[in-house]
Amino acid sequence: MTEKLYYENLYQKESDAHVVRRETRDGKELVVLDRTVLFPGGGGQPCDRGWLNEIPTEQVYEENGEIIHVLSQPLPADCESVHVKLDWDYRFEMMQIHLGQHILSAVFVRDFDRNTESIHLEQNEQYIDLDGFVNEEALAKAEAASNEIIYDDIPVEILYPSLEEIRRNSKRPIPETDEAIRIVKIGDLDYTPCCGLQNGRTGEVGLIKILHLDSHKTGSRIHFLCGRPAYRWLSALYGQTSELMKAFGCRQEDLNDRILKQQAEVQELKEQKKSLLGRLASAEASAMVSGAQQINGIALIQKVLKDTTQDEVRQLFEQLAAEKGRVVLLGGSTKDGAFLLFGCHKSEKRVDVRKAFQAAIAALDGKGGGSACRAQGFAPSAAALEQAMAEAARIMQEQLQALA
Ligand SMILES: [Zn+2]
Repeated sequence: MTEKLYYENLYQKESDAHVVRRETRDGKELVVLDRTVLFPGGGGQPCDRGWLNEIPTEQVYEENGEIIHVLSQPLPADCESVHVKLDWDYRFEMMQIHLGQHILSAVFVRDFDRNTESIHLEQNEQYIDLDGFVNEEALAKAEAASNEIIYDDIPVEILYPSLEEIRRNSKRPIPETDEAIRIVKIGDLDYTPCCGLQNGRTGEVGLIKILHLDSHKTGSRIHFLCGRPAYRWLSALYGQTSELMKAFGCRQEDLNDRILKQQAEVQELKEQKKSLLGRLASAEASAMVSGAQQINGIALIQKVLKDTTQDEVRQLFEQLAAEKGRVVLLGGSTKDGAFLLFGCHKSEKRVDVRKAFQAAIAALDGKGGGSACRAQGFAPSAAALEQAMAEAARIMQEQLQALA
């Protein structure tokens, strides 16, 4: 059995230890010591990080009562004792995260009758899954109540009571183990079996910030951050806010209004653009209809539009194909390649644009299809657009001439 110094003193950052056993497994050096300050993980908390004689640990875990230190490189062959050093910054954050989770879970039980079913505690991502749904108002209240527990700076007690006493006091499932059950007690708020590590006082958590809520199976997943990770997140958020304040030239309290105002302006401009494009398309359409070739009573209207958009092509097409007696072949070069839209009025039974369309889209190496009165497709390049459209027009002319 390794002596678990991390349970005796949560704040011990280093110690000397004797090497009890060493072995190589999967090319890694595994070291068992007589005692260690490195926590092997448990209670949902990842293992500590640290060093054995300056060699970083890759992992620390417990196996049959022994704490195994997995090293990135072996200790010297004759090494009998080591200096164990804990990555204290990481451990402190993990204790803040774990205690923050206990506080938040206990507040959801106390104030909203919601139990925590599972937890996820990583350095920069924390969430709990509750056994029922909660709304945004409950989240805000739980966040405020949790931070009050922090301000109260309540001592966190570690107890090893009898099973009867645990059954009397704990609302949580009791783990099946031969070892004494470790209870984490936070004043009157929480009494939970847990083998993880938490700070000695709630004040050390510093801050709990709830981020957002997802529904999860039959309950709610609450994403949150505690302690230093919460501070880093808020600090980064304020950095982004500052950039926005500079870009909009306003104070933080006016930012929301400015963004909403700009969104409304953009929407208005979009509508203006749509209306202008419509008018432009009408004018263009009239010019194209009067200049179109007439074959057996059908106007063959064809045009290549340069540097256009699919929307523009569609608008023009709708204008042109609104009347019977017309065949419309439009090809546009867009920023993504080429766009083809061929067709006629849907009641026009004398025309089938598919043969002309297929020839053009094949010449462009594109994809698409459609019906006798409407076919459309895309091609990755508009380099051969002029030739493809000329070929389509020739096929269409032949078809119309054959109507006589
Ligand atoms: Zn715990």
